[in-house]
Amino acid sequence: MAAALADPSVFRDRAERVRKEMAAQGVDVLLLSVGHDLPYLTGYLAMPLERLTMLVFPQDGPATMVVPRLEAPRVVEQPDVFDLRPWEETEDPVALVAGLVGTARHVAIGDQTWARFLVELLPRLQGASFGRAADVVGPLRIRKDAAEIEALRAAAAAADRVAGQLQRGEIPLLGRTEAQVSLELSRRLLAEGHDKINFAIVGSAANAASPHHHASDRVIAPGDIVLCDFGGTMNGYCSDITRCVHLGEPPAEIVEAYAVLRQAQAKGVEAGLVGTQCQGVDRTTRKVIADAGYGDYFIHRTGHGINLEEHEDPYMVEGNDHPLEPGHAYSVEPGIYLPGRWGMRLEDIVVAAVEGPEPLNHADHSLIVLDA
Ligand code: ZN
Ligand code: ZN
Ligand code: ZN
Repeated sequence: MAAALADPSVFRDRAERVRKEMAAQGVDVLLLSVGHDLPYLTGYLAMPLERLTMLVFPQDGPATMVVPRLEAPRVVEQPDVFDLRPWEETEDPVALVAGLVGTARHVAIGDQTWARFLVELLPRLQGASFGRAADVVGPLRIRKDAAEIEALRAAAAAADRVAGQLQRGEIPLLGRTEAQVSLELSRRLLAEGHDKINFAIVGSAANAASPHHHASDRVIAPGDIVLCDFGGTMNGYCSDITRCVHLGEPPAEIVEAYAVLRQAQAKGVEAGLVGTQCQGVDRTTRKVIADAGYGDYFIHRTGHGINLEEHEDPYMVEGNDHPLEPGHAYSVEPGIYLPGRWGMRLEDIVVAAVEGPEPLNHADHSLIVLDA
């Protein structure tokens, strides 16, 4: 967590807001385990282990974080927000949680709680009904506060620096495998201040036509378009950027398609006005691409929310009529993919604000041509 975000008052405020929302929704207890609702509320990200970590967070009483004894030293205690209850290897943590939940009637559970714990826990909570913690915490998480936006800006600036290195030809591509380039992008993102790499997609030539292509052992060659989509976590907040470069002068077909892509992406960013429905952003990029005849080759939604997680609400997708609010952070990343031939995508992170959309990424948006 960044300095401003480690301030205990941040978690106190969030706990207070979550309790208000719980009261409004009639939720008696939240149960949070693996996933990002837990660090949002406590600053602690649970390891996805076979040993149970679970925050028992009642609407009207003190909260308790049940953690394996060996993980307890990693928890930064927030005495105003929760008490720590480490459990020993020989204890039954599910029984502990059931005891803390007591006779609560309506229990909301984190999306990523492992089934192995739930199948033991639910039968022990006789008479309770269940819902999703995401319905309580999500509406709060989706609106970023100033400290969170600052952290996203810093992560985006670091990603921009690596994109700049790629565009200036400082990352050798020719004769290297996609996997080698992926590793180097990751290493450079760490060098620019990231704590963790979440992905570094490198797709060359026809491989770029698969949007989530895994960097392979294909050797990058003259005449390739190379799509790089990378991101990680810095001080708890995520970056995500896509830029493409071309090795040698691109053929007219790619130049024309890229001009369409670039216009679609820019219009998508501009469309992010407060009050606009999320699907409006998607419709804007899609219309530009469809009008140019590439509609069938844009095969995914325009974007996803980003914050503590790489992909979270709000999604820029047809059917999402949720209006953009100040503090929403999301990607605008249209793509054009010609199967078996080539692919391209252009992605920035954007924050919605009353004054208009603020793009966080500023790396050159053109298709940079590198020597081949
Ligand atoms: Zn993705
Ligand atoms: Zn991306
Ligand atoms: Zn993305």
